[in-house]
Amino acid sequence: MLLQQRDLYRGRIAPTPSGYLHLGHARTFWIAQKRARKSQGSLVFRNEDIDHARCKPKYADAMMEDLRWFGIEWDEGPDIGGAHIPYIQSQRIPLYLKVWEKLYNLGVIYPSPHSRKDVLNALSAPHIGDTEPIYPSHLRPTKISVKSISGPGKTNWRFQVPDGKSVNFIDCRMGEVKLIAGKDFGDFIVWRKDGFPSYEMAVVVDDQSMHITEVVRGEDLLTSTARQLLLYDALNWLPPAYYHCPLFCDDNGERLAKRNDSLSLRKLRGKGVTPESLRKSRNFIGSNVCSID
Ligand code: GLU
Repeated sequence: MLLQQRDLYRGRIAPTPSGYLHLGHARTFWIAQKRARKSQGSLVFRNEDIDHARCKPKYADAMMEDLRWFGIEWDEGPDIGGAHIPYIQSQRIPLYLKVWEKLYNLGVIYPSPHSRKDVLNALSAPHIGDTEPIYPSHLRPTKISVKSISGPGKTNWRFQVPDGKSVNFIDCRMGEVKLIAGKDFGDFIVWRKDGFPSYEMAVVVDDQSMHITEVVRGEDLLTSTARQLLLYDALNWLPPAYYHCPLFCDDNGERLAKRNDSLSLRKLRGKGVTPESLRKSRNFIGSNVCSID
């Protein structure tokens, strides 16, 4: 798949305000910042707050404060120079609806009223664990019909993946990545019955409309990247380039999670740890990801 080759580098940091950010987030965003600066490009800050059951304004404020403390600076986003640039997903619903309509008219999505478990999976942030079961094909409609309807209504909508299609891309760190639709991941939710787009859809619409040329994110989102590439393909949009960072583990080899906040930036800062010393720590430098050249 052809990825973006544009002159002006535009990266983004896109945290979800569902808890305090930890050192793993800081490292991913630090790498995003380094890559943007190295290319003399710009960095956009986006607040990914569409999962309203889990996101809280106090975490949105905290994430900006904690990232600034850590040394992350962004050029565009919610708090720059008092200018209100609404890179806040919950304020962009009309834009996502337009894209829902486009996907509907293309006949690539279908209403999917099935299973509470599927809905819960779609509501979970991808960082909790990308373990969504492959959606059983017998639950698909036999034919996706495109009638005149006024909107998604109160049901989930799924993107029908082309079974067996190989989604290939060259990751800027990992090299060639290949995932098979229908085997490595199945039909995924693009619109939720609570009236909000899914993470996969909102991210694609935002990265496209914000002209993002490279997405730096954790390796746990590789499957999401493959799903998102299928959306770009369906919409006939040029996808960005991708750089997937290795996951940050604590001293016991455990992956960091927001619910375990011992390495949250907030806690570390409270203990008087400096950002400089964190950036020099073994775990931060680990896997050699910080030498990003
Ligand atoms: N907002 C998402 C998260 O914090 C990740 C965004 C992305 O890199 O696409 O899990």
